[in-house]
Amino acid sequence: MSVFRFGQHLIRTTQIFFQSDLSVAFVNIKPVVRGHVLVSPKRLVKRFKDLSRDEITDLFVSTQIIAEKIESAYKGTSCTIAIQDGPDAGQTVNHVHVHILPRKPGDFEENDQIYSELNAHSKSVALDSTRSDRRTEEDMGEEAASLAKLFVSTK
Ligand code: AMP
Repeated sequence: MSVFRFGQHLIRTTQIFFQSDLSVAFVNIKPVVRGHVLVSPKRLVKRFKDLSRDEITDLFVSTQIIAEKIESAYKGTSCTIAIQDGPDAGQTVNHVHVHILPRKPGDFEENDQIYSELNAHSKSVALDSTRSDRRTEEDMGEEAASLAKLFVSTK
């Protein structure tokens, strides 16, 4: 895969750390917590209801594999796994994606605060055209390269 078309965005190969037959995982340009990554179907599918059964299976098996590794790599004790499915659920990128966020005790004052943070951060990424608070390609590339070592490629 040269670049991955993620809705309206282009994801460079250097951001990708995992690929299966039908899914791809990459590091986030503006993570809510360290280790906040995204898993998507390779096919550009806007809504969860539009995925095929094979894509759902591949996406969730990939999510399970990745979440386990990410939780341990970032010394988490739990994971928030979320899909914002549709604009009124907070989806800003028109391509199905699973958010994986490693969690630690006391990482937020209120446990479920992560959902408002998730909602707020996505909106700010969508609105921010200056890219001033986004991560550099180099920074994302380093994280993806180090995560890629955790996985035996199936693709
Ligand atoms: P959502 O609001 O659920 O659609 O989430 C969109 C996610 O995509 C957010 O976590 C953004 O930070 C992330 N995102 C947007 N553009 C990029 C990009 N170019 N590379 C990596 N992640 C991105």
